[in-house]
Amino acid sequence: MSTPQKNVRRICVFCASSTKVDGIYSSAAEDLGRIFAENGITTVHGAGAGGLMGSLTKGCLSAGGKVVGVIPQFMVDLEWLHSGLSETIIVDTMHQRKEQMVKNTDAVVALPGGTGTLEELLEVITMKRLGLYFKPIIIVNINGFFNHLLAQFDFMAENKMMKEKHLAMWQVVPTADRVLPAIIDDTGWDRNAREFAVV
Ligand code: AMP
Repeated sequence: MSTPQKNVRRICVFCASSTKVDGIYSSAAEDLGRIFAENGITTVHGAGAGGLMGSLTKGCLSAGGKVVGVIPQFMVDLEWLHSGLSETIIVDTMHQRKEQMVKNTDAVVALPGGTGTLEELLEVITMKRLGLYFKPIIIVNINGFFNHLLAQFDFMAENKMMKEKHLAMWQVVPTADRVLPAIIDDTGWDRNAREFAVV
């Protein structure tokens, strides 16, 4: 096993693009951005202007933090890009976007979101199972939003679609203020993950 994370400088956040979500979710995203900024951590996300990406950016920038957005050209053409980010990386494809978002980050965090967020979260979980990713994955279960997904994960393990120990690939926290402590305390992922990837 590897050791706890000491240097946390850059964190990737997957979250909703929807602008219609309840304030409980946008407040959590804003809190998370502020907390990262106060701790000198750069936030990386999908560069969307609205939804939880927008709230995260607002919290971060208003506390003097840095936000890096990664977005494909077609979304820029659709005018979905947040114009005030600290840095914008424009890519060609959605696949390149995911790769760039996660690259050189010290952890990934999933806030509530739709299929885009789920897809991003599940890809990084899949990479971890296959020994292609070793950093902490934190699921922020605001308002019990991820309860059904977590139940599905348990059901997968019960049905031998993955091992019980795969359920340790992520940590679940209830609120934004628990994200950084969870990342710092994370005990790491087994470097020999491929030896037990297959059930
Ligand atoms: P979702 O969780 O389905 O709202 O999707 C969030 C993810 O979908 C983002 O990280 C982006 O990959 C993409 N996405 C969908 N709509 C937008 C948008 N309006 N602006 C930026 N990214 C978006």
